[in-house]
Amino acid sequence: MSAAAEQMLPLSKPVGRFIGERKKMLIAGKWVPAESGKTFPVYNPATGEEICQVAEGDKADVDKAVKAARKAFESGPWPTMSLSKRGRLMHRIGDLILEHLDELAELESLDNGKPISVARAADVPLSADIFHYMSGWCTKRHGVTIPLNVLYTPGVEYHSYTRLEPVGVVGQIIPWNFPLLMAAWKLGPALACGCTVVLKVAEETPLSALRLGEIMQEAGLPDGVVNIITGFGETAGAALVGHPGVDKIAFTGSTEVGRLIVKAAANDLKKVSLELGGKSPNIVLADADLDIAIPGAASAIFFNHGQCCCAGSRLYVEQQVFDKVVEGVSEQARKIKLGPGLDPKTEMGPMVSEIQQQRVCGYLDSGFKDGAKALTGGKKRDGRGYFVEPTVLVNTRAGMKVVDEEIFGPVVTAMPFKSPDDELINQANNSIYGLAAGIWTRDVSKAHSIAARLKAGTVWINCFNIFDAALPFGGYKQSGWGREMGEAVLEHYTETKAVTIRL
Ligand code: ADP
Repeated sequence: MSAAAEQMLPLSKPVGRFIGERKKMLIAGKWVPAESGKTFPVYNPATGEEICQVAEGDKADVDKAVKAARKAFESGPWPTMSLSKRGRLMHRIGDLILEHLDELAELESLDNGKPISVARAADVPLSADIFHYMSGWCTKRHGVTIPLNVLYTPGVEYHSYTRLEPVGVVGQIIPWNFPLLMAAWKLGPALACGCTVVLKVAEETPLSALRLGEIMQEAGLPDGVVNIITGFGETAGAALVGHPGVDKIAFTGSTEVGRLIVKAAANDLKKVSLELGGKSPNIVLADADLDIAIPGAASAIFFNHGQCCCAGSRLYVEQQVFDKVVEGVSEQARKIKLGPGLDPKTEMGPMVSEIQQQRVCGYLDSGFKDGAKALTGGKKRDGRGYFVEPTVLVNTRAGMKVVDEEIFGPVVTAMPFKSPDDELINQANNSIYGLAAGIWTRDVSKAHSIAARLKAGTVWINCFNIFDAALPFGGYKQSGWGREMGEAVLEHYTETKAVTIRL
């Protein structure tokens, strides 16, 4: 098959039907066009062709959606539904996601460009798992009773307890790298806590979340509990952050936009949680099992085309194994089969958009100007689609943009270190980010002592990119505020009320 023919793989009937009807957003339980009547195109990144048009939501639509979420929160059936029923409904959403696994994986691959095999094995099942896991919390979170010792009212007895109440109407803004999974990460805990939501999906990849909207309706989610807005960040996203009817914003995306959100939310002091960028160090010690560490280091950066906030993009390798490791990672990179996501043989798809492709290539150019050398890759692939070759850069050091800044593409910078001492820890921690880190070693005590000293919200030892609905994920430093998933995320969606009665 020629590259062009490969890219025009036929779509299944359910996906064809779905994208044929996509001009509407979910507001108050109805699928409605934008108030302005405007739409915008969604592109297939493997070909650059338009897939379909979606509604261009803006301030007016966000306002409608927030009002719907407010109504559902204040007077709809959601807040008064039994917790057991809420949990079962959420579990049903997870079940339905799995029932539609093939369709959702295809849609995700078409829209985002990721290999369909990955969407099938990771994005869709993990999304279902979030709903399944979070459904359990509905019945398991509660306040506590607290014995008081009020010194200034001697002899008086009190009974005090706390209630965990939903924070209210939540605005959630998500990126394009894991469109369905990011929707699940956000919606799962908010719903489990009893909040109602306005979800603003990424303009590049709105399709799977819209399909999730239909699935949530099928599961029986009451009208207005989840409203889904398609539109751009500067208009729809900013309107959501600025809306006085929103109690809390949960954002995943770039650190740059995270800063804008914090500033905008300062007006009415909305609660904010942020999951932002990263530049994760991945440390290979000389005693590591290189048969695991080399493919592990390759997958740490190349998984999802490097479009992961936690990508292991700074590879630090102990000097005596440096050549072997970087050559091994380069060898892995050369073997990766680039192609359209919908081709089952594809191992790496295109970047999500032309802008992203240009951004990654801009970083490569700056790296070469600064003296970096590509052991493999180093450029975009000619022809249709937004492909970038998996790239291993050496002759890199702190101070170069390719080492310091988040590229969000399949580019790893490799640097040798002399021994796992303070200098290595300083280098690894020398970043404005602190999302994740990797360590590869057979020495358990070195592994744990390095793990303790890394300023990162997640440390993987002899593995990388291991996620679980039960495991909190989030960043130190400018990688964010708060944690996603696990029990930890629930605190963002609840207010604690202390109630005291004099007996
Ligand atoms: P990227 O640069 O990787 O696309 P962004 O941080 O720009 O990441 O986008 C992540 C999400 O934030 C998207 O849904 C986008 O529409 C939204 N967004 C972008 N700018 C703003 C903004 N000023 N206010 C609110 N949301 C925004």
